[in-house]
Amino acid sequence: VLIANALAKTFADQSGGLDIFTDISLRAEAGESIAIIGPSGAGKSTLLSILAGLDEPSKGSVELLGQPLAGLDEHSRAEMRANHISFVFQSFQLLPELTALDNVQLALEIQGHPNPEQQAADWLDRVGLQARHQHTPARLSGGEQQRVAIARAFATQPSLLFADEPTGNLDEQTGTEIIEQLFQLNQQLNTTLILITHDTSLAQRCQRRLYLHNGRLQEQ
Ligand code: ATP
Ligand code: MG
Repeated sequence: VLIANALAKTFADQSGGLDIFTDISLRAEAGESIAIIGPSGAGKSTLLSILAGLDEPSKGSVELLGQPLAGLDEHSRAEMRANHISFVFQSFQLLPELTALDNVQLALEIQGHPNPEQQAADWLDRVGLQARHQHTPARLSGGEQQRVAIARAFATQPSLLFADEPTGNLDEQTGTEIIEQLFQLNQQLNTTLILITHDTSLAQRCQRRLYLHNGRLQEQ
C-alpha cells in the first residue's frame, strides 16, 4: 500500500542546504504495522510528512494505494485524504473554531458517512471524552486535543494511518487504551499503521521497527 523510492530531503539554510536524508526507500504492505524510531532531529517527522503526502521530497517518489503522489491533482489528493488516509500529527491540528464533536463530525461528513454525528459522538466516547463534546480545542488540555485528533483519525476507518507520537501527550492508562484501539483498527480493518514513537511498548507491538539515524533507515 505504500512504496517510497530513493527519498531525499534537503532544507534550505544560510549555508546552502541541510540534507536530512538522501536515499530512503521503504515498502509497507496492507495491514502492516511499522514503528519509526530514532533520536530527536533525525528527520522522523519530516519523513512521515513526505510518506503521507503532506510534504514533497526533494528527490524520489512515494506511491500510496497504487497511486504515485506526484501525479495526483488537488482533487484526487483531497479524495485520498478524506477516504483512505488519516493522520495524528502534533502539528496537524484541530480546527480551532469547531467543537471536539464538530472536528470529528466534519471528517465523516467529507467522507459522506450516513450518520456522522452519532458516529463522531461514539468515537469521542471511546477515547474517554464523553463530557467534552462541546469544547473547542482552546478549552481542552493537550492530551484531550490529542484524543480528539485520534478519534477523528479512527472515525473514517482509513486504509493507512500515520501517527507522530500518538501517545506522546497521554497518561499511561489513556496511552495504553489508544494503543489497543490502534491495533484493533489494524486487525479489524487491515489498516496499515506507520507510527513514530519513543514509547518502547508501542514500538514492540509493531511488526517492524525502523531506526532512522544519520540519514539512514535501518530495519531492527
Ligand atoms: P523529534 O524526535 O525531536 O520530533 P524528528 O526526528 O521528528 O525529531 P524532524 O522534525 O523531522 O526531526 O527534523 C529533522 C531536522 O530537520 C531537524 O534538525 C530540524 O531542525 C530540521 N527541519 C525540520 N523542518 C525544517 C524546516 N521546515 N526548515 C528547515 N529545517 C527543518
Ligand atoms: Mg518529530
